[in-house]
Amino acid sequence: MGVNRVQPMHAVGESAVAAGGTLDRYVGHVPIAFAVTRGDGHALVYANSAFRSLFSANGDLVIGRPLADAITRGGPTGLATLLDRSFRTGAVSRNRHIGPVEERMPPMTCTVWPDVNGHGESEFLVIELRAATQAELTLKLQREVAERLLLGALQSQDAALAAVVSQREAAFLAAESGRLSASLDEVSTLAAMERMALPHAGAWCIVDIFDESGAMHRLTVIHPDPLKQTILQGLDGHWVPHVDDPFGLPAILRRGTSVAIIDDVEAALANAAHDEDTFLALRELGAGPLLTVPLVIREKFIGAVTFVSGRHGQPFTAEETALAEELASRSAMALDRARVHGEALSLRAVAESASNAKSAFLGMMSHELRTPLNAIGGYVDLIDLGIHGPVTEQQHASLGRIRTNQRHLMGLINDLLNLTKLGGGRMVYDIREWSAHGLLSAAIALVEPLVGERNLTIELLPCDENVHVHADREKAIQVLVNVLGNGIKFTPKGGSLIVDCVPARDTVMLRVSDTGIGIPVDKLDSIFDPFVQVKGNLMGSEGGVGLGLSISRSLVRAMHGDLTVESTLGEGARFTVTLPRSAGAGQPG
Ligand code: ADP
Repeated sequence: MGVNRVQPMHAVGESAVAAGGTLDRYVGHVPIAFAVTRGDGHALVYANSAFRSLFSANGDLVIGRPLADAITRGGPTGLATLLDRSFRTGAVSRNRHIGPVEERMPPMTCTVWPDVNGHGESEFLVIELRAATQAELTLKLQREVAERLLLGALQSQDAALAAVVSQREAAFLAAESGRLSASLDEVSTLAAMERMALPHAGAWCIVDIFDESGAMHRLTVIHPDPLKQTILQGLDGHWVPHVDDPFGLPAILRRGTSVAIIDDVEAALANAAHDEDTFLALRELGAGPLLTVPLVIREKFIGAVTFVSGRHGQPFTAEETALAEELASRSAMALDRARVHGEALSLRAVAESASNAKSAFLGMMSHELRTPLNAIGGYVDLIDLGIHGPVTEQQHASLGRIRTNQRHLMGLINDLLNLTKLGGGRMVYDIREWSAHGLLSAAIALVEPLVGERNLTIELLPCDENVHVHADREKAIQVLVNVLGNGIKFTPKGGSLIVDCVPARDTVMLRVSDTGIGIPVDKLDSIFDPFVQVKGNLMGSEGGVGLGLSISRSLVRAMHGDLTVESTLGEGARFTVTLPRSAGAGQPG
């Protein structure tokens, strides 16, 4: 028998089958990961498809095994703590910053709901894992900033106190703000490194903040002693502020100023703990006098930091209070910056996804439009060739107009397709060595019919056959055809085009000069921007939409070359395609 999925739940009892079966009806295929475990060993009873694809490479999970063993990809850090806690306490636990399953995945929010039986015992746990929202990601960033900053402060507490005594407070604070200004991106690595340093004073702190919805949120509890990490993990997401807490953000909100608790710290902790487990954990962290100071930015409370001293019974000195307030004000600035940074990241993510959706849509539409347009062109040719019967002169002329318009539309669609491909970085370049003369002749051959139609002349000046360039042939010809096409479009009847090549040491210039209407000086830059056209198109509606030069320049630049223009208004224009020169004898082009 292969690896079991949902079916063999009879292995873990009838009620499990019922639990999993019902759940599967509702959440089997929702995009949020759900699983159910049973007993204190957290045996996996049920996993929906999102959960399975998150935790196992092939989508299979072994039902009946403890969750930790069933998961074939490393589980997120912190999940086991949540499960144990909910099982023991029978309370819902939530961790808004649960570690990513894999490096490349975003952090997740995990909620565990215990299913408590008639005797008040947990039997099943329902686990929900979903990608963190932008607001949660901002909180995560703020938490990292708070940890980095305050952990640093706690670790250098001895030095800080010495600094106060010897009037070197300013220097200490300057050092703290130096840490703060380091790149936000480095936050997590730095925090991890700092956590390894040894504690000095045994003091710790609690950071509360208003989240995006204005609700009080316990951002983090920071202790410099790595040995206390398990206790901190147990508090994570579980210990939340309540309005009548004697310290922390609720106390600051009631009092409007810093709050110190010197005596009867135990009672204060018991009041704020809200359950026995949390109270014991807090005691284990080591509790002396408490000092809550506000986090204020632009005269607005954004949260509070509570410093818990390691020195029992000793009140905070005025210097210590001042230092704590100063540290809080710097933390507030850092947290505000983290919030702005988080919001900017979220806006960028939204913009990027909108732009990707737009590119995907344009790409898809362009493909869809090309097929029927090709068919139109093909049938026009068949009729015009007289395959379906004789064609009159008038019909021939009309077919010609259909064909011209069909080609025009095709050109526009190709431009759009190119633009979306360039924007999405999906263009593939096949760079080889080609003769410059060969590329120019091939491009000229493609536009020659137009030259004749418009009564122009075109001349390719002699170009040394041994001059070679590095380029993608198709794309180089596309660019040259576009530049030649423009020359033809913007040169009145009777005018002429001259094409030549100018080799230099490392580059070769392929030039197209015309005797056309020219380009005003103030437009010489902007014509390379998408959708920019100068008025006075000689060919009316066939003139395109102003994408050609923008696409051409991007293509040439991607081939390590450039596209430039010189012009005298009323006298003509010269476009220069510069490409890297290749030493070897390449292909004829
Ligand atoms: P399109 O040709 O589709 O309008 P392009 O991006 O190729 O778009 O060109 C942008 C604009 O640059 C043209 O609309 C025209 O105003 C100007 N232009 C390009 N080539 C020439 C030329 N050889 N002579 C005069 N104007 C030109």
